[in-house]
Amino acid sequence: MGVSMGIIDEVLKVLDRIPIWKRLQEVPSEVDDLRSRIAALEELVSGKALADACPFCGKRAFRLDRSIMHGRAEIWTCQECKKSREKRLDLSPHRGQR
Ligand SMILES: [Zn+2]
Repeated sequence: MGVSMGIIDEVLKVLDRIPIWKRLQEVPSEVDDLRSRIAALEELVSGKALADACPFCGKRAFRLDRSIMHGRAEIWTCQECKKSREKRLDLSPHRGQR
């Protein structure tokens, strides 16, 4: 009896560990998610404008590259797919307020 009780104890100990392993498998994606949220928060706190979603690839990496035409237009470049687009500020009736 002592031997089989020992086996049950071992099995219970193993079962106890399983939820922890399951949690550990979920952690990397959660960490990635948190990391991107923290990066966004850090940008907010630092006062920098948050990157816009890229109209080409959809990643939040679309940033103002430079102003052209004496500030009447801007070149925005995606840091992920490297595509850029010109935004005309003098043609749009309302500018987006942040
Ligand atoms: Zn892009």
